[in-house]
Amino acid sequence: MTTDLRRIARTVAASSYRKAGEVGRRVFGAPAGEAPDAARQAVAAAPGALLPDPSTPPWTPMPDGDGPVCPVCRWQGESFSGSAHVELSQCPACGANGRDRFLHWCLADRVALHPALRVIECSPRLGEGYRSAMATWFFYRTSDYDLSAHRGNLQLDLQNIDLPDACLDVLLCAHVLEHVPDTDKALAEIRRVLAPGGHLLLQVPVLQGRTAPPTEPEFHGDNTPVFWRFGFDLTSRLRHHGFTADLLCTAEFADAVASGSNPWSTWAGAFDVPDILDGARRDAVASDLEPIADRTTAARVGIVSRSSLNCGSGARWAMAARMASVPWVSTRLTRGCRSRPAGSWASMNATSSPLGVFA
Ligand SMILES: [Zn+2]
Repeated sequence: MTTDLRRIARTVAASSYRKAGEVGRRVFGAPAGEAPDAARQAVAAAPGALLPDPSTPPWTPMPDGDGPVCPVCRWQGESFSGSAHVELSQCPACGANGRDRFLHWCLADRVALHPALRVIECSPRLGEGYRSAMATWFFYRTSDYDLSAHRGNLQLDLQNIDLPDACLDVLLCAHVLEHVPDTDKALAEIRRVLAPGGHLLLQVPVLQGRTAPPTEPEFHGDNTPVFWRFGFDLTSRLRHHGFTADLLCTAEFADAVASGSNPWSTWAGAFDVPDILDGARRDAVASDLEPIADRTTAARVGIVSRSSLNCGSGARWAMAARMASVPWVSTRLTRGCRSRPAGSWASMNATSSPLGVFA
């Protein structure tokens, strides 16, 4: 295999989703610039390390300076490890990758954070240290549809959420909606369980401009089937379901859309960048795009590429949907929720909720 072919194979393999990426790394080696696993583990396993540090909640101002800083755990250092790709560029301390950092940056930027917030995170990628810190900062629970790929306190089906109306302040839903067959059912259910003023922070991979099913069977790294490849028309679907939808992006991406041309010369193969930009121009009106980080900030917190590998588009793109002034609907509050083997929201609420949600 020629050097060029090896380089291309390594890049393509590493830029695929988790499992394919892992297999690719085993076969072709780590992409250039990726820190050795041993170095990452040495940092993560430092004596006494429990990152994020629960004593530094996400509403603490970011530290001064201009060097890299992780918005999840506040690690500061010379550079994030791994190649400049949303899935691979990792915080050496907590393991947050580019999209984790983007989601948390959006959370802190868009939501008035405080300890009483009732937060559910769907299929969280990060482990025990992160979950335990989140549970210190918020009334926080995790959920997964079948508890196979991710562990969770709850086993929720987004198409039929086993929770009462208006019981939730924040739903973090990163890279889950593409695995749900009926998007409209899920959005209607999410709207139902969000309290007035609640927030849905919805992050989906965007590989193309307009929503369509995959043209051939597609599975992400945890063998979960993909039902939808979303595009920018998702904004109008959120509005159709009663959300006030904003499309959060980096200034780099907003500038690219406004420029009318494609400023990037190369990109990871899975992303159809010209179609993404066309879709953004066609289906996202200018006011939809809300830059949440200028170039300097985005580079500092690691939500912008350090190379052209992923070129500031695709999965770093996220949506945040906010409930407008929706009347308080409580007719179904008394319905409670049916217990699930993994522990029910109701039972945890009775013992842990600072708000007495169902009282
Ligand atoms: Zn971190």
